[in-house]
Amino acid sequence: MADLSSLTSSAYSQALEVIASVEPRIAEATRKELADQRGSLKLIASENYASPAVLLTMGTWFSDKYAEGTVGHRFYAGCQNVDTVESLAAEHARELFGAEYAYVQPHSGIDANLVAFWSILAHRVEGPWLEKVGSKNVNELTDADWESLRKELGNQRLLGMSLDAGGHLTHGFRPNISGKMFHQQQYGTDPTTGLLDYDALAAKAREFKPLILVAGYSAYPRRVNFAKMREIADEVGATLLVDMAHFAGLVAGKVFTGDEDPVPHAHVVTTTTHKSLRGPRGGMVLATEEYAPSVDRGCPMVLGGPLSHVMAAKAVAFAEARQPAFQTYAQEVADNAKSLAEGFLSRGGSLVTGGTDNHLVLLDVSGFGLTGRQAESALLDAGVVTNRNSVPADPNGAWYTSGIRLGTPALTTRGFGHDEFDLVADLIVQVLQNTEPGTTKAGTPSKASYRLADGIADRVKDASAEMLDKHPLYPGLELS
Ligand SMILES: *Cc1c(COP(=O)(O)O)cnc(C)c1O
Repeated sequence: MADLSSLTSSAYSQALEVIASVEPRIAEATRKELADQRGSLKLIASENYASPAVLLTMGTWFSDKYAEGTVGHRFYAGCQNVDTVESLAAEHARELFGAEYAYVQPHSGIDANLVAFWSILAHRVEGPWLEKVGSKNVNELTDADWESLRKELGNQRLLGMSLDAGGHLTHGFRPNISGKMFHQQQYGTDPTTGLLDYDALAAKAREFKPLILVAGYSAYPRRVNFAKMREIADEVGATLLVDMAHFAGLVAGKVFTGDEDPVPHAHVVTTTTHKSLRGPRGGMVLATEEYAPSVDRGCPMVLGGPLSHVMAAKAVAFAEARQPAFQTYAQEVADNAKSLAEGFLSRGGSLVTGGTDNHLVLLDVSGFGLTGRQAESALLDAGVVTNRNSVPADPNGAWYTSGIRLGTPALTTRGFGHDEFDLVADLIVQVLQNTEPGTTKAGTPSKASYRLADGIADRVKDASAEMLDKHPLYPGLELS
């Protein structure tokens, strides 16, 4: 057998020729995307680089199959191979996370949360309600009873982490569907330390008595004690839903264990599969046996038909994550985040919570006289891809922000180590120190425009190129 990188090279070169025969501009954009990803410092905390095996698995005829329903119980004929794929993906997921049950159909993290919400409502509200009126089936209800059940379902409470403390939109942010379908309240972090305050959270939970307590985050640079979260949930009779979309790779890689592993503590766990877990773009729900039957009805009650080609790629990615090498990778992701954080602190940078113990760092750029928007744009000019992010009680709001969120999963996949992340911090500080806020056309201060001093972008790009060349993305993959 030829070596894997030459197989991958010919597979992609030939695939691009086939694509170009129909729409050459798409083939061209696909080539350019590879070149762009190879040539920039990707620090977006939610992104990664999936393996060629995972990527290739998505490009097949499994895409053409409808498979609503569950394994062995489909609404369409001819699903025997989809059943194989979905069973394998679920089995790998259960083994990888030590979960009682895994539902691998969700198309994305938000879809996984929607499935979780509706299955918790079905299990905790609809089921008991139907029992009370002596019916097994909503189709047998009178119209008046049905209206009354709908009212009950729409009258439930959810408590989640606020967006500006690092929570996700789907954790009860008012404009999001989660903030509209539930009566919601939000918990934040301690204003002085920036850390989760479990006592304040417990007090809020006692007063609010939510049906669902959501834990998990997109922009909180610290670990969470899920045993404590479960205690709080139990005390108030809430279902604990942990959304581990960002840090699933650290759970799979056994960096987060014991109280920091959500799976043994939560009733339901949701995740994406494409962030630190390094699989295909998608979502997943893990659940205890108790919640499994209602989660299983996700499709077609909440979700559209499963993406069988993506479920196949999930199986491949989970098989990769079960290898010992993935645990090494996950540990390096966390070690590298520490190096990045120390790199900022030693150069006078200010970090939310003062550091990190997961895969991400939240740099407060107000000390440089910049908004997050200005910092993000200036960094992009220098080939450093990040995203702006609010800091707690952000004076610049959620659009301009005062922070930059940086994560280590992607560059760690390329092989960046401790010293390289220290240099990355140095390059970022150089860009920010050499950026000035700009003004609007009318001459008033602008939160968006900026001026990057001459020569900085090129200097940073040259220094990055050296590191990027040393750690190529998809080593040996060459397109003809
Ligand atoms: C990224 C993220 C999601 C959403 O994932 P999508 O795949 O974009 O739908 C949900 N929850 C959390 C905590 C996230 O970080």
